[in-house]
Amino acid sequence: MKLFLLGATGNIGIQTLDIVRQNKDKYEVVTVTGNFNLKKLQEIIDEFHPAYVSIGRECDAVTLKKLYPSLEIGYGEEGLKKAATYGKKGNDLVVNAIVGSAGLSPTIAAIKKGRNIALANKETLVIGGEIIKELLLKQDVKIIPVDSEHSAIMQCLKNEDKTAIKKLIITASGGSFRDKTKEELKTVTVKDALLHPNWTMGAKITIDSATMMNKGLEVIEAHYLFDVEYDQIETVLHKESIVHSLVEFKDTSVIAHLGNPDMRVPINYALSYPERTAYNGKSLDLVKLGALHFEPLSNEQFPLLKIAIDAGKSKGLNPTTLNAANEAAVNLFLNGKITFLQIEEIIVECLNKFKNDLEITLEKIIDRDKKVKNYIYRKYS
Ligand code: NAD
Ligand code: MG
Repeated sequence: MKLFLLGATGNIGIQTLDIVRQNKDKYEVVTVTGNFNLKKLQEIIDEFHPAYVSIGRECDAVTLKKLYPSLEIGYGEEGLKKAATYGKKGNDLVVNAIVGSAGLSPTIAAIKKGRNIALANKETLVIGGEIIKELLLKQDVKIIPVDSEHSAIMQCLKNEDKTAIKKLIITASGGSFRDKTKEELKTVTVKDALLHPNWTMGAKITIDSATMMNKGLEVIEAHYLFDVEYDQIETVLHKESIVHSLVEFKDTSVIAHLGNPDMRVPINYALSYPERTAYNGKSLDLVKLGALHFEPLSNEQFPLLKIAIDAGKSKGLNPTTLNAANEAAVNLFLNGKITFLQIEEIIVECLNKFKNDLEITLEKIIDRDKKVKNYIYRKYS
């Protein structure tokens, strides 16, 4: 199978390449993209020999061209779209491991090309879910989730009738600050926030896990992926991150997906779907685990979960405002410009300031994304 790997230099991208390395006979990496990390991209080119490479900035594309004169190289948004649609259609899979709203345009390009997508970039469905749903009606394309919770739900739903679903139950690890009070959250640092108890991930999603925005984005993602109403999606705190999500059916039966917290498992599944190929990870040791725990997610501690779901429910441009405000605020927090609790304040401020518009187009989404981010960077940088 030919792979078109967007965001190859990031956490999910690198783990995808681990799976490719273990299955060299199955996968061929045709295109890769990165944003700023030229050195990592060079390592990937040297090992996987893609036919096309795209990077964020033109100046880095020029540097790459000097190093690899015979390689096709692009940059920026056009480069991302080309990496998603490169070459003839065949036994293909686009893996979208970009972080943030930049993942939307290449996803749409891939759908229009008729290519299946293994989607890690949850922001794509959060801001473009409505547009993508419509596009999928016209194209015979599958979106296979990489996010562990959604991969779990997809597996729980395999061979099940969708009308038999009562509810989806999405688990949350609780992130770095799950045991902190609101008072303690006032003084937490970037270093504290980046210490996730169970998963090693990119910086943005690690902060999103600490604010619980990540779970809000995942509820919106689940709504679009599985065509399930918001009131049929529940979230529960599960600190061990062993049960990756569950589905309750009409007859009250519940099917859960369990496994050690290792993103290579859902990545491997998304690549081999609908087959299940081997992966040499650690087996789950239930006796050693002894017990699994589930608790409610406190709205007082994690107000962004409800704020995100409400933005998702209100549709139109509100999810884009939410997502753009979050991306910019998290970026400012990571750069030491604002405090942890200001992330939430800024998101609420933007949802009030930027009015919703239910008639959405891709252009309006891109425009709103830019306007919200510019507003925040100007005011808080
Ligand atoms: P990361 O920051 O480690 O990597 C992001 C990748 O996107 C990098 O290759 C980077 O170069 C690229 N990128 C960033 N901004 C870009 C831009 N503007 N244009 C083009 N490329 C850009 O992030 P990650 O942790 O690998 O997460 C990637 C996506 O997967 C996110 O949407 C995240 O929510 C989702 N996800 C990640 C995990 C995880 O365990 N890391 C789990 C579930 C879902
Ligand atoms: Mg997840």
